[in-house]
Amino acid sequence: MTKKRPARKPFGRDGPPKGYPKDQSLYADPENWRYPLHTSWNTKAARRYFDEWSNRAKYTEEERAYIDWRINEALERFEQHSKPRVTGRPPPRPPSRKTVGELSLEELLKLFLGGARLKRAEEIDNSLAVISEKSQHRISGRIKEYQVQIDLENHTILHDCQDWRKNMQSKNMCKHLGKFLLILDKNTATDLLRNILNNPDEWTFTAP
Ligand SMILES: [Zn+2]
Repeated sequence: MTKKRPARKPFGRDGPPKGYPKDQSLYADPENWRYPLHTSWNTKAARRYFDEWSNRAKYTEEERAYIDWRINEALERFEQHSKPRVTGRPPPRPPSRKTVGELSLEELLKLFLGGARLKRAEEIDNSLAVISEKSQHRISGRIKEYQVQIDLENHTILHDCQDWRKNMQSKNMCKHLGKFLLILDKNTATDLLRNILNNPDEWTFTAP
């Protein structure tokens, strides 16, 4: 069915109803300010109202297809969001307002660790953090009793704590990795995290 954005109708509103969003794109019928989709509750209500024939009959078949499509898409979106996360932390994603290249090391670390872990990383004493090898291909060392090996050629990071093992699948980092990156020179650490964020599938996070 071809979809067509509904035209202005005699029953259409001139603007948003009081207390409703002022953004037209949040309505299934934007031109007439009908069927707001800004919350899960409103979207479900929109589905109910638009299932009634008296409401459907006010539109052409193609316009109905458009409104149905908009409502169903919003329903799916809300459903996705409400799904409980079964497997730990979601993979790090760049925020929508900035490009990866604009993110500072601090912002990058926050994405990979989260605020609380980053704080714990900063609290690890410098005397417990050692970089033993640093070349173009490889950076390795220890944080406390744990090892860190970053293979820049093969895009692999190996580390061996429990938190790492639990979250390495989703490309999240633990406080030890955080500390390791904090003692590394800033450019290398920043480049590394930007690279992983841009090409998550090319990197392997692993444990021995
Ligand atoms: Zn760790």
